[in-house]
Amino acid sequence: MSERVTLSLDELRSLIRNCLIANGCDEANADAITDNMSSAEASGSASHGIFRLPGYVASLRSGKVDGKADPQPEQIAPGVLRIDNRNGFAPLAIDRSRTAFVDLVKSQGIAALSINNSHHFAVLWIEVEKIVEQGLCALAMTCHLPYVAPTGGNKPFFSTNPIAFGWPRKDKPPMVFDMATSEMARGEIMLAARDGHSVPASAGVDADGNPTTDPNEILKGAQSPFGGHKGSAIAMMVELLACGLIGDLFSYETAQIDNGDGGPARGGELIIAMDPKRFGAEDYLDHTDRFFKELAKQPGVRLPGDRRYKTRVETPQTGVSIPLALRDTVLELTG
Ligand code: NDP
Repeated sequence: MSERVTLSLDELRSLIRNCLIANGCDEANADAITDNMSSAEASGSASHGIFRLPGYVASLRSGKVDGKADPQPEQIAPGVLRIDNRNGFAPLAIDRSRTAFVDLVKSQGIAALSINNSHHFAVLWIEVEKIVEQGLCALAMTCHLPYVAPTGGNKPFFSTNPIAFGWPRKDKPPMVFDMATSEMARGEIMLAARDGHSVPASAGVDADGNPTTDPNEILKGAQSPFGGHKGSAIAMMVELLACGLIGDLFSYETAQIDNGDGGPARGGELIIAMDPKRFGAEDYLDHTDRFFKELAKQPGVRLPGDRRYKTRVETPQTGVSIPLALRDTVLELTG
């Protein structure tokens, strides 16, 4: 186990923000990314916390991403808000769109937010949770580089194509699940490779298409979709909605233009949200709370998101533990 260091959340935020500013982000982008990354870390989503910061820096330094992008949302159809992220990182575009998007969903009943020319390197639950906290339900999906072989094939074609879905709750944090459509998230495979752990054989195949438990070999080969052909079909749906529907790059098209700097690739994100009140479900919070209570009657059942909420209560007191080598890398990148 590598040596670790514990940081308070304020120390973590300063470390991230200073590094982003030193590498060319303006304050608005640095603040949005810092909020996003420190929330992930504080909720136990380590694979998309400060671990990703060197990737953001790589893309600022290579010029692939504009750390000073200044995106603004525009309504392009009665139920569609679009934001051209102008080659920037996703967090600022998402923050800038939220108020207008929530208003549109509440007036239309259902609306979509299309985020284009963007670089997403984060968890999806953050954007979904903030929309769902407004009493709405929401679904988000995005694509990245091809890492996952479709069922029947053994070469990367889909990205790990995550989907997050959230439902509001009365006097409780919302239920939000957020999952890659690959058997394992790529970040988890990278962490296993870094820490010298093996992974389940179902996670992927090596470059020759043979099953392996070595994460380094899977990173050179292809990941597998979750649940066989069913996960493969859902991964295809994410490509069609988060890329085809909104006129952005499919994962294989992204690979054709990506400069390989290891940072977030260019692509789109689609968020769809609905207002249950506008669907006629006036008592939806009470009704669905009874549903969640019935669900939880089975021993061993918990709601997705509960682990995150538990961790989030603890980290303001405990701080977050990160590898010492990663802290030193970030300090070096900050200069
Ligand atoms: P996990 O498999 O760890 O978890 C998926 C979901 O299942 C979570 O909502 C989790 O909730 C829930 N869950 C886990 N165990 C249980 C249980 N026993 N009972 C009920 N619910 C449970 O996630 P992944 O590894 O697939 O994804 C990790 C992250 O990677 C995601 O946040 C995703 O957005 C991100 N990602 C981002 C990409 C990008 O391009 N930006 C690409 C791919 C992935 P809980 O958190 O409470 O455990």
